[in-house]
Amino acid sequence: MAVLEHITSQEAMALENKYGAQNYHPLPVVLRKGEGVYVWDVDGNKYYDFLSAYSSVNQGHCHPKIVQALTNQAQSLTLTSRAFYNDMLGKYEKFATDYFGFDKLLPMNTGAEAVETALKVCRKWAYEVKGIETNKAQIIVCENNFHGRTTTIISFSNDPVARKNFGPYTDGFIKIEYDNLIALEDALAQNPSVAGFLVEPIQGEAGVYVPSDDYLAKAKELCETYNVLFIADEVQTGIARTGRLLATCGNCTCENKDCSGIPEVKPDILILGKALSGGVYPVSAVLANNDIMNVIRPGNHGSTFGGNPLAAAVAIAALKVIKDEKLTENAYNLGNLFRQELNKYIKTSKIVKLVRGKGLLNAIVINDHEDSDTAWKICLALRDKGLLAKPTHGNIIRFAPPLVMTEEQLLDCVSIIVKTLKAFE
Ligand SMILES: *Cc1c(COP(=O)(O)O)cnc(C)c1O
Repeated sequence: MAVLEHITSQEAMALENKYGAQNYHPLPVVLRKGEGVYVWDVDGNKYYDFLSAYSSVNQGHCHPKIVQALTNQAQSLTLTSRAFYNDMLGKYEKFATDYFGFDKLLPMNTGAEAVETALKVCRKWAYEVKGIETNKAQIIVCENNFHGRTTTIISFSNDPVARKNFGPYTDGFIKIEYDNLIALEDALAQNPSVAGFLVEPIQGEAGVYVPSDDYLAKAKELCETYNVLFIADEVQTGIARTGRLLATCGNCTCENKDCSGIPEVKPDILILGKALSGGVYPVSAVLANNDIMNVIRPGNHGSTFGGNPLAAAVAIAALKVIKDEKLTENAYNLGNLFRQELNKYIKTSKIVKLVRGKGLLNAIVINDHEDSDTAWKICLALRDKGLLAKPTHGNIIRFAPPLVMTEEQLLDCVSIIVKTLKAFE
């Protein structure tokens, strides 16, 4: 078989199974094309994408303006490394720092790299600005966190599947319960060598856990009291997904006046990835003000691809689309509609316990024990009805479509979801 020949689903899956490391368990569907809220499989079947590559494709698949920026830039310059300046990086850094309200941006590629970068910046700040004794800095993290897959990051995960047999683990992390301010205050009071608090504004991978309305603002206040950096991992929640430009919304230029009553928080360090490129190219970033970011000096940190002109052009285009198409507002409105419609069904449902989320980052919890395979079977049935979603943990299904969806499409999806769920009662 020639490598570029058209292949069937069975052939494509067999190739991955035979020649690829088995580090994922994909839903059996083989995709070949995407446009807006839709993807098509190799047989031409069309689906609503309700995962959006874990909230990377907020702007919709193959957005023409982002693809145009990619192809234009690809024809003039793609990679210089940071050994030299390029004419796109500075433009992007100015654009993105204005956009999110920070002094400086440090460009990386993947979310995990950006999290690693934030941890390094935080530790260096702890020694050089806060004055913590060398190698004693601690960073507080939350139980059931997901921040990526590097050795350091999985060291403070408590998912046994992600951790087991990857030790020895990295020291310097204190784990506390999520959405628990008392636990945070205790950890801060008991450990004078704490440098930072790393938190997801909504725990996406854990199952779309939304904290109490005042959690982030109060946590930030505690961090200020103890001179500790508040580090927001908005790789999944950021860039319009939750109906705000950022889930923390700190100093953002979000045009959505109704931020659902949740106080705004300005993180000391902001971590972005995923939708920063609209899903066409890996682009991540760490943003902070000068008092923090200036601890990073030449040679302290780097990445061959980080800040390349292709990534810069793509990220500018991807961020412009968010504003031009008012995707923050759309996510806010459609999210409310989605939960309202699903709740009508849930009132009398025998199988769904609840729906939760913000904007278009939502999940339903299936009324079954943690490790039942009902959620997986529901996702197979949804696929057969033309909608792709995936369980997060056990009995939880995440629903996160591209933010370019229309109201009519959303209602069509609700009807597919409700019909499918009813068949499982
Ligand atoms: C996806 C994700 C990451 C990791 O991003 P990668 O690009 O997969 O390395 C980190 N944090 C959060 C909250 C994420 O959702």
